Amino acid sequence: MDTRIITIDGPAGAGKTTTSKMLSKKLNCVYVDTGALYRGVAYEIQQQNIQWENDEKLAHFLKNLDLQFVLQKGEFVLQSYGQDITGFIRTPEIAMLASASSAKPLVRAALLGIQRGIAKIQDAVFEGRDMGTVVFPDAAFKFFLVADLFVRAQRRFDEMPEAKRNLETVEQEMSRRDTNDYKRKEAPLKPAQDAITIDSSHLTIEEVVQKIIKIIENT
Ligand code: C5P
Repeated sequence: MDTRIITIDGPAGAGKTTTSKMLSKKLNCVYVDTGALYRGVAYEIQQQNIQWENDEKLAHFLKNLDLQFVLQKGEFVLQSYGQDITGFIRTPEIAMLASASSAKPLVRAALLGIQRGIAKIQDAVFEGRDMGTVVFPDAAFKFFLVADLFVRAQRRFDEMPEAKRNLETVEQEMSRRDTNDYKRKEAPLKPAQDAITIDSSHLTIEEVVQKIIKIIENT
């Protein structure tokens, strides 16, 4: 690989997004949120009322799927059939449907090309669940961010004050999503053998980024 790829994997709420965004700015490269792709699939499943548990129906749906990351002012915007869907994919329902449908090998296979295609042409920080293990096994640097469930739930809760959910519900949903992601057969959430794990429970995001930068600079 001629481009420099950095992967940040880990469970929901571990600080991946803020860390990856900051890191990409410091390293002057693009940031790619691969969770958005799985959320995009879930959004279209919901919109088109697809019986995604049926492989034949799922395959037909995926064949006609038109998800694209479009670079706008240095940041990727997710488009589906040419429309910006960024504003529709951040709901708890979409998160849960993304977690369930992303366990399907057909879904994962359909999104692989988009991710690798970006990495071929530019340096990037990729955030996801299987970046270091499956999508970019040869990445230059791999990090796995973790944090206590309570801390992660609190962070997510603080991010969405408008949602009608209490902290306990957020924690339960997060825990269910973790279980789905860790336990699935295809591309389960786990650190790559050569990934560096960072526990962000008691660190600020700046401290996490500093740690990562130090590791990159000293390698
Ligand atoms: O990162 P985010 O929370 O937006 O991801 C939503 C869901 O998409 C995750 O719970 C996970 O099931 C799935 N996902 C995945 N592989 C990735 C990124 C996200 O399976 N690389």
